[in-house]
Amino acid sequence: MDLGLAGRTAVVAASSKGLGGAVAEEFAEEGANVVMCARGAEELAAAAESVRARGSGEVLAQVADLSELGAGEEVVRRAIERFGTVDILVNNAGGPPAGRFEDHTPEAWRAAVRLNLESALEMTRAALPAMKEGRWGRVINITSVSVKEPVDNLILSNSVRAAVTGWAKTLSNEVAADGVTVNNVLPGFTRTQRMEQLASATAERTGATASSVMEQWEKVIPAGRMGEPREFAAVVAFVASERASYLNGLSIAVDGGRTRALY
Ligand code: NAD
Repeated sequence: MDLGLAGRTAVVAASSKGLGGAVAEEFAEEGANVVMCARGAEELAAAAESVRARGSGEVLAQVADLSELGAGEEVVRRAIERFGTVDILVNNAGGPPAGRFEDHTPEAWRAAVRLNLESALEMTRAALPAMKEGRWGRVINITSVSVKEPVDNLILSNSVRAAVTGWAKTLSNEVAADGVTVNNVLPGFTRTQRMEQLASATAERTGATASSVMEQWEKVIPAGRMGEPREFAAVVAFVASERASYLNGLSIAVDGGRTRALY
């Protein structure tokens, strides 16, 4: 199946590693131009180099802290300056800290809203006019299976991602007639640094070891294992593709069957 991604320009937020990094690799292999961003210059440059080596398109890497107002907008602005448009925008950022309601200060709540909701609004606001003008666009938000089944001890993530889901569904209705689709792809337990951090946080709280926490998680996944970042990225690439033109307003879980809900 030709995904029709060659020559398209994709902005992938928070892409120096983990899920964003895997998505950037996938797009590069499909021949797209890829715009990457993350906070750490060195790690980002190394990731961009490896993404560049995978495809025929260009790779633009920009240091950006998406928790800062205007940083996401600037990434999109530079992408448009370099490539003339943004066809695909993947909204992503580091996950908020683990914890229960009484663990988090009002500042922690504001930071989570800023990083995991507002940065997506900002980047989308910056990219939409070009997508609408070209009458083609894909906005894809990396959220979490927690929007279908909230995860204990992750109250910040559970709450803010539900807000992203409400925004995305509403936006998908507003821009569909312009040829722009808006969907969410929901990682289940996927083997990245974020998972290692969450396993350590759970281990600290329960007195177990991080590796035994991971084993427990794997036991409740019907697939019997964690997902790999590229398994997640393949679904994002399909959702971004020409072939997914009638797929809109959805939240698609990539979780090896972990979510027990019907849809
Ligand atoms: P990760 O920690 O492995 O990678 C996060 C990426 O975001 C890195 O490239 C990092 O440099 C970048 N980043 C972090 N904060 C940033 C900031 N302020 N500005 C710019 N870049 C920033 O995480 P991951 O596993 O790839 O997860 C990506 C998202 O998916 C997170 O929001 C996470 O909570 C969510 N998620 C992940 C899983 C999983 O199993 N991995 C499950 C559910 C949800």
